[in-house]
Amino acid sequence: MNNAILYLRYSTPEQADGQSELRQTQGAERWCKEHGEKLVKIYKDLGISGGKSSDDRKGLAAMLDDLARGSVPKFLLIEDVDRISRMLPLDSLNLISKILDFGVTIISLRDNQVLNRKNWQSSQSFLILSLKTTLANEERQKRIFRGKANWKQKRLDAATKIYTKKVPGWLTVKDDKIVKIPEHVATVKKLFQLSNEGIGIVTVIRMFNEKGIKSFHGKDWNKAIIHNTLTSESVLGSFQPKTIIDGKRIEDGGKIQNYFPRIIEDDLFYAVQAKLKQRNCYKGAGFRYTKNPSQNNLFAGLIKCEKCGASLIHLVRSRHGYSYLVCGNAHKHKKCSYKVVATNVLEEVFQICLTDCRVFDTFQKPSNNAAATRLQIEAVKKELSNFLNLIRKSETVPPTSIMKEIQDLELKQAELENKLDSDLAGDKLSASIPGKFNEFCREMETNIKNPLGRAKIASTLKDLISQIVVNPEKCTMAVYWAHGGAQSLDRMQWDKKTKEFWHLYTTGLRDYSRPTHDLMTLHKK
Ligand SMILES: [Zn+2]
Repeated sequence: MNNAILYLRYSTPEQADGQSELRQTQGAERWCKEHGEKLVKIYKDLGISGGKSSDDRKGLAAMLDDLARGSVPKFLLIEDVDRISRMLPLDSLNLISKILDFGVTIISLRDNQVLNRKNWQSSQSFLILSLKTTLANEERQKRIFRGKANWKQKRLDAATKIYTKKVPGWLTVKDDKIVKIPEHVATVKKLFQLSNEGIGIVTVIRMFNEKGIKSFHGKDWNKAIIHNTLTSESVLGSFQPKTIIDGKRIEDGGKIQNYFPRIIEDDLFYAVQAKLKQRNCYKGAGFRYTKNPSQNNLFAGLIKCEKCGASLIHLVRSRHGYSYLVCGNAHKHKKCSYKVVATNVLEEVFQICLTDCRVFDTFQKPSNNAAATRLQIEAVKKELSNFLNLIRKSETVPPTSIMKEIQDLELKQAELENKLDSDLAGDKLSASIPGKFNEFCREMETNIKNPLGRAKIASTLKDLISQIVVNPEKCTMAVYWAHGGAQSLDRMQWDKKTKEFWHLYTTGLRDYSRPTHDLMTLHKK
């Protein structure tokens, strides 16, 4: 029994029948069984054009490497010569000659042609081989032509007629036209508005259910529906055709703009994407909406233990109607001191921090336009790379319409990059306006007891603050601004018993030998 290997390849258009890999493998196995040989290895290039050289075909390159390293089987099985190469005839013959020089015998299974170092240049074999390589290359050229026509047709169709009945939940198909469902369109708009205000998905579900707002297709609201809607570019009107390859849904060509009716403007959409991304940065539970304001954690995702660096965990005692925070490390592993801080005390200290902060004229709330523009640029880049990948993988030369789209995208990218520059400048400017910060302070004073107000405050906090460090044992708190890097607020210390607060670090502005505030003075207003 001799060793045999199989070289298996198909290109993307050939895979359309979904049978190519199976057919080539079974052919090789059948041959081995009939001839009493043993199939020891299969080299594969799936979805790769035979017009590419071994530089771009990993399977072929691996096989040539193995042969060069002296691992030479008796037989190399191929379905036909066109599996090895669809390159120009001379290049194909050179490659075959190179393989035969290793001493391996090539078996072409389709016509049982046997090629080896000795026989392949005999007139008959060579004639057949020359003919085959010529045909294989011609077939490739034909495919390029057909592919071109297909691309064009598909995209022409998309622009004029609806080729999928599947539309997003807020739309429906009537008389072959895509139309809005007003009730659901209003819901989508509301959803984006809430999300832009920093209301999280779970909160939105709760609010929608409370108000009896119905989900699409008569389903119940769930996280996936909300998240998919918030991230789907179909709200902008664009449609991404998909195709199924190897059981996976993959993007087929570029997006088609203005396919669906537009529901949301670009600015709002990308602002929401920025918020969603920002929310994902915070590990662990985010702010949780509760009707009872004393039972949620305004500082979720921001607050850390000074001793060990772990996040503080929020615990609710609903029977007593209050909540407190404790070091997560102490709570879970008993590796830090178990000292709790009441949520309302922390908020009190924080508000005093803010009050004092208003004398810092350097304080700024940074705007975030640049982040949204960066996301837009990323989206355009991704679309561009999708196009380029598609062209790279395809055996067909892209038609001019595709090249036009690529040009447009490149133009858009340049435009956005200009916008980014002005956004960055604008962000800086807005950061110098302390008015915004004062607005936040007012929100803290007036809306901190209002459930929805708290949700907004919690969201704004993440724009303003990078970290709050608390030492529950020593009763101290320090706040670090997101914009200022190292600039931190005065560190505050509180005493529950005497109901007093101290600044621990002086800035030279006040007399710090006395308590600066009495506990609960702010909330008495
Ligand atoms: Zn700790």
